[in-house]
Amino acid sequence: MGAPTDVVFFDRERETAPVERLRAWQWERLTAGLREVWASNPFWRARVEAAGLRDVRDLASWDDFAAFPRLGKTELAADQAAHPPFGTNLTYPLERYIRVFQTSGTTGQPLRWLETEESWTSWWARCWAFVYRGAGLGPGDRIFFPFSFGLFVGFWGGFEGARTLGALAISGGGQDSPTRLHRIRELGATALVCTPSYGLHLAEVAAGQGIDPAGLGVRTTIHAGEPGAGIPAVRRRLESLWGARVYDHAGMTEVGAYGFECAAQTGLHVNELEFVAEVLDPETGRPAGPGEVGELTLTNLGRWGSPVFRYRSGDRVRLAATPCACGRTFARLEGGILGRVDDMLVIRGVNVFPSALEGIVRRFDAVDEFQIEVFQRGAMDEVRLLLEIDGHAPDTVAERVAEAVRRDVGIRIEVAAVPARSLPRYELKARRVVRRTDETSPSSTS
Ligand SMILES: [Zn+2]
Repeated sequence: MGAPTDVVFFDRERETAPVERLRAWQWERLTAGLREVWASNPFWRARVEAAGLRDVRDLASWDDFAAFPRLGKTELAADQAAHPPFGTNLTYPLERYIRVFQTSGTTGQPLRWLETEESWTSWWARCWAFVYRGAGLGPGDRIFFPFSFGLFVGFWGGFEGARTLGALAISGGGQDSPTRLHRIRELGATALVCTPSYGLHLAEVAAGQGIDPAGLGVRTTIHAGEPGAGIPAVRRRLESLWGARVYDHAGMTEVGAYGFECAAQTGLHVNELEFVAEVLDPETGRPAGPGEVGELTLTNLGRWGSPVFRYRSGDRVRLAATPCACGRTFARLEGGILGRVDDMLVIRGVNVFPSALEGIVRRFDAVDEFQIEVFQRGAMDEVRLLLEIDGHAPDTVAERVAEAVRRDVGIRIEVAAVPARSLPRYELKARRVVRRTDETSPSSTS
């Protein structure tokens, strides 16, 4: 694509710096931040002491850092439950905080997160500047956010970050999908920031209204919240529907906006100026070997009011062994987020990840929406794929999908066509894996 090279970097010199220099910058930020946190943050002080470290000032090397305890979401949740409503991961008095967000609560109780003036207006916005520049956006772009702007941080950071580019941010809050399509056209949006599922859904709504989304003028879409944009078949579908270049992005409430894609589009870069990334064996905590899949574990370097050190993201990733064609020296996660550490299904002894099934389903243009049903047959888990199929011969499409699953994943599963518009659509994190507790199969009676 024709973006001039100075546009695709936010900080060219540092994004392409030798890895040793990156590590040195990280170390400087990390140790300074840790000292500040140690002095006044009760949560981290207690954790560090419980791990047998007398003082963070004793931390002398990356090896020492690797002995720092990993943090899981359940520990944050327990702290907030014991100290409502914000918990004790606070470095400053409450008056210093200016924003509150909470997680979408797809798993258990939502976590709340407070931001300071510095972490919100400066750090979050800067992290998004890397995302936008990587996708080739700049001044003159008009970025539309079809997002509810509720308590979930979601794309709030992206909205805030647009001003660092001199781009125009357009809220899609408080609008239904047809109204959003109208706004995109009326205000001349050039970029769209949403989940991959919602990008597909909005295109579907457009088609239902006789609008070709590719004719709306959106030339770039950026997606986060689900692995979708990293799944080749999902990406191709979004690209062809919107006539746009599709970019993956990754972030979490607990960690920040850490991952972005460059024009080479060979996986997610981790912004190593603002985060320390480790890929670890989820069980042992030991670093995954080259090319091995492990759990992404993250430390942020600019959110000292409510930081995380060695946070277990729960995401499965693979570190690329080769440098990226774009010239960045930042770590690269091949294939983006591959799925969740805990979302693996075992079907008749075969490990099956929902993202692998999605990658197959999305190759079939006739499939509008899908759901993965998990149920028990005897003591064993079984899966059934439900497909909303647009057009003729739904049974033939279902058979072809079943055949593709058999060939690519190595298992035979039931694939059934369901009526159009019978499966849920999602604006935020899609929940397409549904565990049925009753044994009745919708198709076993037919
Ligand atoms: Zn790159």
